[in-house]
Amino acid sequence: MATFDDFLTANQSYSQAFELGNLPMPPARNIAVLTCMDARLHPEKFLGLDVGDAHVIRNAGGRASEDAIRSLVISERLLGTTEIVVIHHTDCGMVTFTNADLAAKIQQDLGVDVGDRDFLPFPDLEQSVRDDVAILRESPLIPQDIPISGAIYDVHSGTLQEIVRA
Ligand SMILES: [Zn+2]
Repeated sequence: MATFDDFLTANQSYSQAFELGNLPMPPARNIAVLTCMDARLHPEKFLGLDVGDAHVIRNAGGRASEDAIRSLVISERLLGTTEIVVIHHTDCGMVTFTNADLAAKIQQDLGVDVGDRDFLPFPDLEQSVRDDVAILRESPLIPQDIPISGAIYDVHSGTLQEIVRA
């Protein structure tokens, strides 16, 4: 719990200088970003986003999972976002294992059989961006007038490269 204690201490200074308590709930820039949970990604910084600007939905890989779609639908239907950007990144941990690898590790570590559970790893970074943009584009829950773009963030250079617009 040492880190949590650090958080509480850090938050004391943050909240003392806090002046953003009256922002509206809908994102000011009407956009939702789906990206990876990788600790080296600071999407608000590398995209120029301020507090209140965007929904940033993160999971392992930035995959268009059922739960990511759930969040995107809420973002669009209830909170007014009208654009989606999917961002995967170089050196992603999701290319380093297969479902079979992780299932074996879980069996060994936890004694649990996960069966055919899909943890959504991928072997090809650019293809995974295209696949996730396509999954979102084909979802009946995301209307065609919502632009969906896909990009790759380079963790070594900090640059964002466009891959696809749908
Ligand atoms: Zn990643």
